[in-house]
Amino acid sequence: MSQIPVSTAAAETLTDVVTGHGASAFRAAQLRRAVWQPFVVTMDDIHQLPAGLRGALANELQFSTVTVAAETEADAGRTVKLLCRLDDGQTVETVAMETPAREGSRRRATVCVSSQVGCAVGCPFCATGRMGLLRSCTAAEVVDQVRAASGALHRRGLGPVTHVVYMGMGEPLAAYDTTIASLRVLVADAGISARRITVSTSGVVPAIHRLAQEGIAPTLAISLHASSDELRDRLVPLNRAHPLASLIEAGMGYARQTGRRLTFEWCLIGGVNDSMEQARGLRDLAARAHAHVNVIPMNHIDDSPWGPPDRRAERAFLGQLDGMVVTVRDTRGADGEAACGQLRAALEQRRSLRPDGTLSPPRRAAAV
Ligand code: SF4
Repeated sequence: MSQIPVSTAAAETLTDVVTGHGASAFRAAQLRRAVWQPFVVTMDDIHQLPAGLRGALANELQFSTVTVAAETEADAGRTVKLLCRLDDGQTVETVAMETPAREGSRRRATVCVSSQVGCAVGCPFCATGRMGLLRSCTAAEVVDQVRAASGALHRRGLGPVTHVVYMGMGEPLAAYDTTIASLRVLVADAGISARRITVSTSGVVPAIHRLAQEGIAPTLAISLHASSDELRDRLVPLNRAHPLASLIEAGMGYARQTGRRLTFEWCLIGGVNDSMEQARGLRDLAARAHAHVNVIPMNHIDDSPWGPPDRRAERAFLGQLDGMVVTVRDTRGADGEAACGQLRAALEQRRSLRPDGTLSPPRRAAAV
């Protein structure tokens, strides 16, 4: 008999399982709460449950669908990258990042999850895109990445998890059912507000319309990367099916429906999308959609001819965004293994854009 993943099992299912072993129904509620404790790593750690029941449940329920196969640290241990092994031997990457409280901002701990093993979108600048799509993750695999990351933070005296971003491997809106089911569990069982969950999409327009109607409104980030169809067709091949006009309309519709401010992500690639024309196009689109802009200078990936722009070109590009709400995530110097090939959150530094188009000095940060 195959085991039921405990993290995504419905309350009624857990009650049936628990009472099937002669225990009271309240044990199911205890179990459901306990699996979200970062120090609980096996069924046997749930000491509220009688030992006999723990043993019986371990046969029937799968405590986690992911196993941490490798763990690396950066940023003085405040960033942890996990290689999560799934039951079929596939692996995905998960990143956990802690940002200490600062004046005007609270402490946050963000987990970046993968929604697919590989990705079918095939953005040519992305390490994950080169893999092609092997399969989508299950909802339990996404949720269990958050639990594994929560445990990794806890072991370092960090956490609890306050934010989740679907920005790791894969296109979360192509794995729509997985994304929605895992979102619902994170909100209902992990207690993470949808406002603190970001779904990042390369532009699956019909799914954006659908998401707007789900009644669970995460923040939506659109990986724009180009402000003309001609260039975006090359950088984000999905654009050929869902061109910019329809994508921006869908994003604006989502913002209207949910009251959430959109984010536009822009991976800045030297000599490719760092022209003044592209910058002005981005400014116009962001102004129209009232979107926050997140600029991520590209990292080199092995044997790719593309890379980040030089500092002067970057400054000139950012200068065109004067007056916009812009965040720059400086990933230069990051290692070559971050989750989505480009997010490279592990070693990111956040800088802010000054009104004159120059950047403030780097400061360590993990917010996205
Ligand atoms: S950038 Fe994102 S959408 Fe594009 S190939 Fe990589 S994982 Fe897929």
